[in-house]
Amino acid sequence: VISISNVTAGYGRLDVLRDVDFEIPRGATVAVVGESGSGKSTAARVVTGLLPPRTGAISLNGEVLPPSLTQRSREQLRKIQMIYQMADTALNPRQTIRQILSRPLQFYLGLKGEARERRLFELMEQIELQPSLFLDRRPGELSGGQKQRIGIARALAANPEIIICDEVTSALDQLVAEGILRLLSGLQDETGVSYMFITHDIDTVRAIADEVVVMKGGTVQDKGSKREVMDPPRHDYTRQLLASVP
Ligand code: ATP
Ligand code: MG
Repeated sequence: VISISNVTAGYGRLDVLRDVDFEIPRGATVAVVGESGSGKSTAARVVTGLLPPRTGAISLNGEVLPPSLTQRSREQLRKIQMIYQMADTALNPRQTIRQILSRPLQFYLGLKGEARERRLFELMEQIELQPSLFLDRRPGELSGGQKQRIGIARALAANPEIIICDEVTSALDQLVAEGILRLLSGLQDETGVSYMFITHDIDTVRAIADEVVVMKGGTVQDKGSKREVMDPPRHDYTRQLLASVP
């Protein structure tokens, strides 16, 4: 679905990504791993258009996207959604869950009234939260895992082709995190969505990834199927990375 082609990008004069090149196939989960500061979140920002690359490009289904999100069409924006580590900071605390989820349904799909309400209920069922209990609550009245589920529902509301997940389970305890991973896998089977799954948890990679991209110092150190890259690690750096994480 998405190709990241020879991307160089950074902040000010600092280059953070150099010649980054990988693809996210349709329906696949591509884990992006690497130590802190290796440029994983920066790569996500380039894909979403928050950070236009200095060179290189992002393509969606073979079509080169405008570098900045301000130049992308609504349809192009709809297809690439993102979920963040801190669901807290990403959800407006003043809005009810109904308001939070209604916005993308209206903005991207033009849904209103009865049709929107029906889709709201369906979304809540997809994330396994009872609509009647949760739609009128605000984010502050939810647990961390429930908030993360609302983040997922908001992304899903756009019927995206790809969801970028940046450390979406890192702030959750293990059981809750496992529930979120199971949910994401089930949703992928159901919708065919692709995931760019940024994480530094290797167990998570083992559980969810089809393919793995290993980043180091803003470059792609290795990429390929999970087996090729990790079982056993074919690069010294990947071996170190696997050994260094608890
Ligand atoms: P982590 O695992 O800690 O989230 P990461 O791989 O996501 O790390 P990035 O957030 O992409 O790393 O950061 C890569 C580099 O870019 C770091 O050296 C960071 O200091 C720098 N950086 C990130 N955001 C900015 C910014 N807004 N302005 C300047 N430098 C930045
Ligand atoms: Mg990051």
